[in-house]
Amino acid sequence: MNSLAPHLKAKALKPNSRRPAKELCSECGLCDTYYIHYVKEACAFLNQQIADLEAEAHGKSRDLNQENDLYFGVHQEMMAAKKKQAIPGAQWTGIVSTIACEMLDRGLVEGVVCVQNTAEDRFQPQPILARTTEEILAAKVNKPTLSPNLSVLEEIEKSGMKRLLVIGVGCQIQALRAVEKKLGLEKLYVLGTPCVDNVTRSGLQKFLETTSRSPETVVHYEFMQDFRVHFKHEDGSIEMVPFFGLKTNKLKDVFAPSCMTCFDYVNSLADLVVGYMGAPFGWQWIVVRNDTGKEMLELVKDQLDTQDVMSSGDRKQAVQNSIPAYDKGVTLPMWAAKMMGVVIEKIGPKGLEYARFSIDSHFTRNYLYVKRNYPEKLAAHVPEYAKKIVEQYKLPD
Ligand code: FAD
Ligand code: SF4
Repeated sequence: MNSLAPHLKAKALKPNSRRPAKELCSECGLCDTYYIHYVKEACAFLNQQIADLEAEAHGKSRDLNQENDLYFGVHQEMMAAKKKQAIPGAQWTGIVSTIACEMLDRGLVEGVVCVQNTAEDRFQPQPILARTTEEILAAKVNKPTLSPNLSVLEEIEKSGMKRLLVIGVGCQIQALRAVEKKLGLEKLYVLGTPCVDNVTRSGLQKFLETTSRSPETVVHYEFMQDFRVHFKHEDGSIEMVPFFGLKTNKLKDVFAPSCMTCFDYVNSLADLVVGYMGAPFGWQWIVVRNDTGKEMLELVKDQLDTQDVMSSGDRKQAVQNSIPAYDKGVTLPMWAAKMMGVVIEKIGPKGLEYARFSIDSHFTRNYLYVKRNYPEKLAAHVPEYAKKIVEQYKLPD
């Protein structure tokens, strides 16, 4: 440990005290450690610096004239994949957990930052520094709530670990990259997932109660490529609710303010990203950003079925129509929502075009939110790539 490091003199904030990013705090966990010393530069909501950090992490920042770079960030390759044998209970097929287990098993890393849930509540996040594959597997499945994954960073420095894998979402990874050099590691691997529309634990309760027929038995849910929310219940049954039938008027304030101002949906700074939205229904979507990401993916390639990414349909009109509908909090009657879901699933955007649909809808909504609520932040907080994406649409004032 470097005893001269200035952060060692800093003190973590107490659990319920106000964070430097105030209501925009995503509870990434940095401020729960002495690395709060770097918060002004590191916090994703105080100092957006994605292009600079991309250049450090991947050797270049994204090329705004290449459509795939503009939307999905720096990458060497993309593919659709699924595990030949899925991990039961994983969010999708468990590619994330499998990569982490292989890295630990083969000695590439000594520990893995991931997030389990508390004993009392399956959706309450409990970040850990896993040292065994059992601990990694116990972290499978999304905790669809703000999670302080970086709160274990002090433990890493104290443990003397030199090789580490961190699993996390964009805001956690931005802060991590900003303090990476202070962690005293020989090698950091970063495995990211896309992330959007996250909520506090109480916000999640409101979402479940407003949307599901049986909120207390939901085990996990996903906003799927077929334009429906799929809720999986304890008894294994799947409940599907069309996006267009969501009670947007009641749900308007449910998403965390941090997520309403986030433009890093695709986790730009991870070495490897595993999501689903750029892949056909039922498949996961993999984005290899750099050589480190490639090294990680190679470890599990023989356990995966893969196919090329595809793209079809045209998202533009659907996005343009969604802007005023969301703004006014329009909710369709359920029969109309179901019908619209069926039509749009048949003729609507698929594969990478679906991912672009989702990015466009969220970036336009978030741009408006920042413009109205934090006008002074608009110029610096919205990355250039997001401005270029938003400029394609007509926005209300
Ligand atoms: P698993 O093997 O089940 O592993 C899941 C991993 O996620 C675990 O290692 C765990 O540590 C980590 N994790 C769980 N909850 C959190 C959390 N709150 N913060 C940080 N890490 C966490 N993909 C898309 O393509 N589009 C989306 O819109 C999208 N939204 C997401 C929103 C959230 C809040 C999260 C956590 C993920 C989202 N994803 C999204 C990613 C996707 O849902 C899957 O997590 C991903 O495809 C990996 O699936 P898996 O079966 O390989 O993961
Ligand atoms: Fe601190 Fe993270 Fe909250 Fe920013 S988002 S104030 S770095 S805990």
